[in-house]
Amino acid sequence: AYVFQSGWTGVNERTFIAIKPDGVQRRLVGQIVQRFEKKGFKLVGMKLIQATEGLLKEHYTELRSKPFFSGLISYMSSGPVVAMVWQGLDVVKMARKMLGETNPADSLPGTIRGDYCVEVGRNVIHGSDSVESAQREISLWFRENELQCWEDTHSHWIYN
Ligand code: GDP
Ligand code: MG
Repeated sequence: AYVFQSGWTGVNERTFIAIKPDGVQRRLVGQIVQRFEKKGFKLVGMKLIQATEGLLKEHYTELRSKPFFSGLISYMSSGPVVAMVWQGLDVVKMARKMLGETNPADSLPGTIRGDYCVEVGRNVIHGSDSVESAQREISLWFRENELQCWEDTHSHWIYN
């Protein structure tokens, strides 16, 4: 069970990002990680993981009654995903902007989905949709000791 931790706010806000199996297969991991690094966010957790159906059903529990749900679970379990936690000011909302819209067809060029994919059922990346979802998803995918606290030596050049 997860406990909502209200301490992770401001520059310590965190979001859960996952490069989906198509993103890994298509060798997009480096490019996607680079976008978050260049933006100025801080990586606090990352692992390559073959997600179980149980984990994915829990992760996408809000969508369980959708017609595409079983296809979504088999897509997401078709290979390893890169699960990540990124930290920074307004990271949840800004990461969603960096991702683009759920449907790549509605995603502007310059966004990850706008640049790297075509169909909603192969949209290469996941990002939490709210601070509450981020807390839930991070505790679902990561143990506390898999998340690193480290001093960002150039944070003064990102935050004033
Ligand atoms: P997201 O938060 O932008 O990822 O979108 P949702 O939470 O609404 O949906 C989760 C994921 O389910 C999406 O990223 C897609 O991979 C998939 N999905 C959503 N809508 C559809 C759909 O209409 N058809 C199919 N095949 N997949 C969908
Ligand atoms: Mg979502």
